[in-house]
Amino acid sequence: MPTVHTVTGPIDAEELGTTLIHEHLIFRDEAVLAEWPHAGTVKEVEPPVAVDEDGAYRAAVEAAAAVVERGVRTIAEPTAMFGGRDVRFSRRVSEETGLQVVPCTGIYTYDYLPPYFMFRDEDAMADLFVHDIEQGIQGTDIKAAFLKCAADEPGVTPNVEKVHRAVARASVRTGAPIMAHSRPASETGPRQVELFEEEGVDLAKVQIAHTGDTDDLDYIERLLGKGVYIGMDRYGLEIFLPIERRNATVTALLERGYADRMFLSQDFCVTLDWYPPEVGRQLMESGAAKDWSMTLVHDQVIPTLRESGMTDEQLQTMMVENPKRWLAA
Ligand SMILES: [Zn+2]
Repeated sequence: MPTVHTVTGPIDAEELGTTLIHEHLIFRDEAVLAEWPHAGTVKEVEPPVAVDEDGAYRAAVEAAAAVVERGVRTIAEPTAMFGGRDVRFSRRVSEETGLQVVPCTGIYTYDYLPPYFMFRDEDAMADLFVHDIEQGIQGTDIKAAFLKCAADEPGVTPNVEKVHRAVARASVRTGAPIMAHSRPASETGPRQVELFEEEGVDLAKVQIAHTGDTDDLDYIERLLGKGVYIGMDRYGLEIFLPIERRNATVTALLERGYADRMFLSQDFCVTLDWYPPEVGRQLMESGAAKDWSMTLVHDQVIPTLRESGMTDEQLQTMMVENPKRWLAA
């Protein structure tokens, strides 16, 4: 049986169990944190509050414990460069709560890259990713289990293309699966898949994250036609698509036989430094995010999908079999 790397060591893929494929224990810019450690990160509660490192840790433990209580055994933690990836932090949370945390390597950027990468090519970037997969992350022996890249509103810019090609080459070299943040409103998905195809990636290893931000079934089926997985992974982020439309889309895709291609998750960030507290509060009050948490899928989504006809087998496929198949590909 293939093994999957977690922050507490490799496990048998059979031990993954119920898995949330896209949840962030922390999300903040590492450069801001290094330069102005006093500035704090913001916890997404109502109202959002600024927290110090210890507060961020306690919040992550609380979120992790809440999903463990609901039977979740594993989260894939796609925090990469520019999200303040911190595998020691994840390991502490995992050890305290028993939640298995699967770490990644990669770069989360919509365009900007540091000068370091201006004079280094895709292969040099891929070398760094391969290092994390084969040697370990941030000086630890914790190995990355998947690769992360992103394309958003600016589209697939030259820098974004460079990251995608580097991620693709690292996947070809190591066999590691890929999670690509996408933006359906900008139709980034097809171009992202095209880049992976050009680089010779096995598309069965590719997950196009945030595909659930649209209910355009033609767009979604165009992606599925390529053989990739899709993330129905932003439950609670009403600003991109309300929960009712997310559920209707998943239900329609289940009826069309796509249970084996979908992941249900929330893309929840336990702490997020993007917004000053007053802006975060306005966003909450405006309904941009509603009941956004690491437990929304279990508390509200699964019961609703069941009422709409989802079978136990389909649920098992999405929450257990797909994560196992994608991560152990
Ligand atoms: Zn995310």
